[in-house]
Amino acid sequence: MEPETNTMRIAFLGLGNMGGPMALNLHKAGHAVQAFDLSAAACDRLRADGVGIAASAAEAVQKAEVVISMLPASQHVEALYLGGQGLLAQLPAGALVIDCSTISAATARKLAEAAAARGLDCLDAPVSGGTGGAIAGTLTFMVGGSAQALERARPLLEKMGANIFHAGDAGAGQTAKICNNMLLGILMIGTSEAIALGVANGLDPKVLSEIMRRSSGGNWALEKYNPLPGVMENAPASKGYAGGFGTDLMLKDLGLAQENATAVRAATPLGGLARSLYAAHSLAGHGALDFSSVIRLVQKA
Ligand code: NAD
Repeated sequence: MEPETNTMRIAFLGLGNMGGPMALNLHKAGHAVQAFDLSAAACDRLRADGVGIAASAAEAVQKAEVVISMLPASQHVEALYLGGQGLLAQLPAGALVIDCSTISAATARKLAEAAAARGLDCLDAPVSGGTGGAIAGTLTFMVGGSAQALERARPLLEKMGANIFHAGDAGAGQTAKICNNMLLGILMIGTSEAIALGVANGLDPKVLSEIMRRSSGGNWALEKYNPLPGVMENAPASKGYAGGFGTDLMLKDLGLAQENATAVRAATPLGGLARSLYAAHSLAGHGALDFSSVIRLVQKA
């Protein structure tokens, strides 16, 4: 990656499966990154890559021009910025907040309003593209907030992603994200069913997957994220469903979609069924495994 001439001071909070590689890409681009995660192991991984690690979120943001967060869910974002830790009140004047976590649109709007009350720009910028996209710097960003704040953020987003969409005002990025993830949750179950059906009939899963990938059933799971172990070398399925996108995170996103559907009186029957299936899978003890492990619900034991 080319070194960045316009170096910025960035605080990066949340260094998990996604945040870790995203922070590393900003560091590699030459930015001055101060990173923090509650998990010491996550901090150690980034420290080993040469990224600056702060002792706390408050220390990380002390001199930050831009604060980026990549946390699990709404409650973590709310607690960090607005709750006990009250980080928003501690940000330097003029700092830009970019929250990349997938959270409810309502929480994103609440954060944006609180930031505006302090005179700070704030964007919701959830991502798609999985851990592979985070590592390669090819994520898709779905951004909610002002066009002017997005232009401030764009040079940084371009170091982490390949596609940047302005979805609309505050919260709109999150709404786009839950629509996308509802579709992803549904299609992963559908893909799993189709592969399991073929395998139950004695078909070679690699051959069947390739046939469907190049036919009218082709989709992202067949392209990049085959749910059956051994079909695709780099997919989480072939690594014991470790890393990737946790079942419980998918369950959270499908819950957000259903809450939203209830609020706007939208009909999302398959989204509702998918939420129930991931919930059953999580209850069976698989919440921490990558969401493609949902194939176990339909696979022959
Ligand atoms: P993760 O669980 O791997 O990482 C989250 C990290 O946040 C953890 O390391 C945790 O310790 C840290 N954290 C929690 N509270 C914190 C706090 N107050 N301060 C600092 N660190 C804190 O999750 P992930 O897979 O990286 O996902 C992060 C977000 O991105 C989620 O909202 C998820 O829905 C979304 N997302 C994930 C993927 C994926 O493929 N994993 C893809 C797109 C979007």
